[in-house]
Amino acid sequence: MNLETIKNLIRDVPDFPKPGIIFKDITPLLQNPEAFSFVTREFVREYQDKNIDVIVGIESRGFLFGSVLAHALGKPMAIVRKKGKLPHVTVSFTYQLEYGEDTIEMHEDAVPKGAKVLVVDDLLATGGTCEATAKLIEKMGGEVSAMAFVIELDFLKGRERLQSYPIFSLLHY
Ligand code: AMP
Repeated sequence: MNLETIKNLIRDVPDFPKPGIIFKDITPLLQNPEAFSFVTREFVREYQDKNIDVIVGIESRGFLFGSVLAHALGKPMAIVRKKGKLPHVTVSFTYQLEYGEDTIEMHEDAVPKGAKVLVVDDLLATGGTCEATAKLIEKMGGEVSAMAFVIELDFLKGRERLQSYPIFSLLHY
């Protein structure tokens, strides 16, 4: 198993969810146990010696990679969701999209004050989702120590937008 094999398990779906977007579908990777565990091991290697208190997964594919990593590292797992999905008392953050705005939420007890947080998602594109997640975590008193992605779309320059945070991505396009 190597990164080239992992890349071959990411399926390009043109024009989804709208014309002009090439959707990077990670489900073939999930269907291959060796590949999924290779990705988890690479993340573990990156973070096992770092000072992390909580892992935060971004809805919804960030939950998949975040939770296996939390399990492997023996760390608490927390989730960020779109407004209205979480049942308990929430803290929210509203951010601007190209057209309109969006709101994300976490449970008020998901990130203890001063906690060092690792944010996980499947893919970094423009960085808007992750930037909003970081702001929400900071609003709760947490500290975003790192961000991890399986895939980074380099040409969208999300890394520049998130330049104040250390970023690790396994695959680059
Ligand atoms: P962004 O906020 O632009 O960095 O977008 C990141 C979020 O949108 C992540 O949760 C991704 O799962 C999703 N996303 C954006 N672009 C793509 C793409 N080309 N293929 C798959 N998922 C994408």
